[in-house]
Amino acid sequence: MQTRDHILLTPGPLTTTLRTKLAMLRDWGSWDTDFIAVTAKVRKSLLDVIHGHDSHVVVPLQGSGTFSVEASVATVVPRDGHVLVLDNGAYCKRAAKLTQMMGRRCTVIGFADNERISATALEAHLNSDASVTHVMMIHCETGAGVLNPLQSISDVCGKYGKGLIVDAMSSFAALEIDARKLQFDALIAASGKCLEGVPGMGFVFIRKSVLAKCEGQSLSLAMDLFDQHQYMEKTGQWRFTPPTHVLVALAEAIAQFEEEGGQPARLARYTRNCESLVRGMQALGFKPFLDSSIQAPIIVTFHAPGDKRYEFRKFYEAAKARGFILYPGKLTEIETFRVGCIGAIDQNEIEQAVHAVALTLQDLGIESGKPAN
Ligand SMILES: *Cc1c(COP(=O)(O)O)cnc(C)c1O
Repeated sequence: MQTRDHILLTPGPLTTTLRTKLAMLRDWGSWDTDFIAVTAKVRKSLLDVIHGHDSHVVVPLQGSGTFSVEASVATVVPRDGHVLVLDNGAYCKRAAKLTQMMGRRCTVIGFADNERISATALEAHLNSDASVTHVMMIHCETGAGVLNPLQSISDVCGKYGKGLIVDAMSSFAALEIDARKLQFDALIAASGKCLEGVPGMGFVFIRKSVLAKCEGQSLSLAMDLFDQHQYMEKTGQWRFTPPTHVLVALAEAIAQFEEEGGQPARLARYTRNCESLVRGMQALGFKPFLDSSIQAPIIVTFHAPGDKRYEFRKFYEAAKARGFILYPGKLTEIETFRVGCIGAIDQNEIEQAVHAVALTLQDLGIESGKPAN
């Protein structure tokens, strides 16, 4: 038992394959041609995923995903720009906060946690406020698990000539993102999400024509994606110490992603995981927070059981003792918890997880997962 890793049912870090973990057992020199070749290969593969070679460049950056979101705003938005954030959850609120901290003017349009952001509301706002230069959205709002309408928001931004910044952290490589059909200035994702690498680096797709105008816009040295890109193009190297082990693990994870059949195959596996999770949990009495029509097959929020004996901490510890790591809810109004469908897991692990939850309820003397009302 002790030597087996827990299955991570979280939005990252995720369960990775043994092959990905084994890739980290070597040391690499950052100047070495072998390592430079891995960086180039990963960058090419990332652009393949979105069919973006003609329109975009990809700029990797050290750090967790949020570092790359912050770097995107710092680099892409002019200092006198005005960012409109379409907010339906916790990650949107984080995006708005970092935009303000980067010194950019920021306006937020709020939506409920259990609904999608709306292209109609965006259009109405753009008609009433011409000063907006950029729109920012989260593709899959990992807070509750909502799938937001990327294509229709992108269409409105195209029509009004506004730059679009997309946090696609938890959707990239699982949901379709095609740079030939979408209009975005920057789109952000990271190593430790649906590509099933380990955490430690993000990457940003920046439209070529936009990048050319980004020189000197960043108020931060470390977060300047223009500089990072220039240096990487010139030398093939990262500007500062690269996350060597993270990158080679990502290269190995991408090889497996391609062997599996790329984005459509990954989406199919996660969809099976999600359906099997929801079915199994409903049979135990649990109720999903979202309507199935707006649920992304990435992470599912469930209402907490109404039973008085329920306490997330105890529920978490009991599920952990059975080998599964759950995730707390991120909603402020009601009590929930989350279960991820992503990572190197399939229906087998999901069915085992549901079984573990059933036994966990028994451990705690809870008869059903049924919410209070
Ligand atoms: C995971 C995630 C991030 C990045 O979070 P970090 O903790 O910085 O890695 C950002 N946005 C969304 C939507 C995410 O799911």
